[in-house]
Amino acid sequence: MREQARWSGRIPGFSGELVGPGDSTYEARRHVWNAMIDRRPAVIARCSSAEDVQAALAAALRENLPIAVRGGAHNVAGNATVDGGMVIDLSPMRRIEVDPSARRASAGPGLTWGELDAATHAHGLATTGGLVSTTGIAGFTLGGGIGWLMRQHGLTVDNLVGADVVTAAGERIRADEENAPDLFWALRGGGGNFGIVTRFEYRLHPVSQVLGGLTLYPASRAGAMLRYFREVTESAPDALTLLFAFLTAPPAPFVPPALHGKPVVAILGCWAGDATEGERVLRPLRAFGPPAADVFGPMPYPMLQSMLDAGAPAGLQNYWKGGYVSALSDGAIDTVVEHASRMRSPLSQVHLHHLGGAVARVAPEVTAFAHRHAAFALNVVATWPEPGPAAAVPHMDWARAVSDAMAPHCTGGVYVNFLGDEGEERVRAAYPPATYERLREVKRRHDPHNVFRLNQNIRPD
Ligand SMILES: Cc1cc2nc3c(=O)[nH]c(=O)nc-3n(C[C@H](O)[C@H](O)[C@H](O)COP(=O)(O)OP(=O)(O)OC[C@H]3O[C@@H](n4cnc5c(N)ncnc54)[C@H](O)[C@@H]3O)c2cc1C
Repeated sequence: MREQARWSGRIPGFSGELVGPGDSTYEARRHVWNAMIDRRPAVIARCSSAEDVQAALAAALRENLPIAVRGGAHNVAGNATVDGGMVIDLSPMRRIEVDPSARRASAGPGLTWGELDAATHAHGLATTGGLVSTTGIAGFTLGGGIGWLMRQHGLTVDNLVGADVVTAAGERIRADEENAPDLFWALRGGGGNFGIVTRFEYRLHPVSQVLGGLTLYPASRAGAMLRYFREVTESAPDALTLLFAFLTAPPAPFVPPALHGKPVVAILGCWAGDATEGERVLRPLRAFGPPAADVFGPMPYPMLQSMLDAGAPAGLQNYWKGGYVSALSDGAIDTVVEHASRMRSPLSQVHLHHLGGAVARVAPEVTAFAHRHAAFALNVVATWPEPGPAAAVPHMDWARAVSDAMAPHCTGGVYVNFLGDEGEERVRAAYPPATYERLREVKRRHDPHNVFRLNQNIRPD
C-alpha cells in the first residue's frame, strides 16, 4: 500500500471540484493518457477559473504538497499527475472565443485540439495543432507544437501571441511581446516550468479545406519509399507537410485485406495551399510505388486532424524515444528500416516528421523552441497493451535500440514534447546551450524555488 499524503481537505476560495481518493470519480480522474503511469494524488483540484488556479496553488504551497499541472494529460512522461500531491487540473477550463476579423482565438488551457479546431473551423480559420485531436492544447503549445500546418504557418509557438499566467508567487500576469517578454519567450518551448497558463491567445490563418491523407506500402518497400520521401521533402513547397511512418496495417476498409496486420510504411501528408496546385504537387507522390492504398483527398482540416486518433487511444502502455535526424543519408535510411522491422508490438510505430519551411525561417533565439534547423524529428513510439514491468522490457529495449542505432545520424537534440522521464541531460538536449542558460535565468526570475518542477525540469540553481 502506498502512503496517502495527509492534507486538510480544504482550499479557501476555490469554486471548482475537489476529487480525492474517497470519491467515486477519483479512479477516472487520476489516470493519464499513458497507462504506464499509475499515481495516486492526494487531491485533484479541478479548476474552473484563474482564481481557482491561484487558490489551489496557494493551498498546495501552504500544505507543502508537490504540484502537477494537467492540461490534456497526454505527456508520455506522466508529469500531469503525482503521488501524494495536488493535481492542478485545468481540463474544465475549456472556454474558447474566436475573433474572425482579427483572426485570433482566446483559448482555455483545458481544451483539446479537436475542440479548438472545431471552433476555429466554423470561421474557416485554423492554427498549427496536434496530429491527434485528443491531445491538450496546453502542454503541446508550451513545448513547441509540431503539426500539419507548421511548414506553412510555423509551429504552434510561432502562432502564440500572448498568454495569461499564474506565477509561482501566485500573481496573475499577461505575457506577450510587450509584457513580461522574457516569460513570453520562455513559454514558447520551455514547457511548464514558468507558471500556469490560464489562457492562450493564438493567431489564426484562413485554412478550411486541405488535401490530406496517406499512401501505404508493404514494408518490403520501406527503403525505396524512404529514399523517395527524402527526394520529395528536399524540394517540397511550404504548403506541404509530410510524415513517414513505420506501422502495422490496421484492418481498415481502405487497406487491402492481404496487408491487414502486416508491417507497412506510410507517407502521410497535408497540403494547406491552393487545391489545384496541391493536386498537381501530390500527383507524382500518389503514383510512385505505386501505393497499396491511397486515401489522399480534399477534406475539412478538422477531419485530417482526427485521422490518426484511432491509432493513439488512451490507456495503453507507452514508451517513446525522440531525436532529430540531421539528414536522411543512405546509412540513416538503412538503419531505421532495419530496426523498425524489429518492432515488438503491432501497436508500435516509428515517425519521421519533415520540418523546415516556416519552422526553419524563425531565428533560433526568437523562441525557447530553438532546434529549428533539423531536417526531421524522429519519434520511436513503443506501445503495448499488457501492464507491468516484465511485459515492458522487449518494447522499451526495442525503442532504445532504434534510438541508439540512429544516434550517429541524429543531431543530439530532442523535442521536449517527445521526452519521457529521461533525466536532466536529456532535458538539456532539448535546447542549445545558450537557450538552456537563458531558460535558467527566466526560471530564476519567475520560479526561484522550483515550485513547478514536475515537468521537463529546468532547475533554477
Ligand atoms: C497521441 C499523442 C499525439 C501527439 N501528437 C503530437 C504532435 O502531433 N505534435 C507535437 O508537437 N506533439 C505531439 N504529442 C506530444 C504532446 O505535445 C505532449 O504530450 C504534450 O505534453 C501534450 O499536452 P497536454 O496538455 O495534453 O499534456 P499534459 O500532460 O496535460 O501536460 C504536459 C505538461 O505540460 C505542462 N502544462 C500543461 N498545461 C499547462 C498549463 N496550462 N500551464 C503550465 N504548464 C502546463 C505540465 O508540466 C504538464 O506536465 C502527442 C502526444 C500524444 C500522446
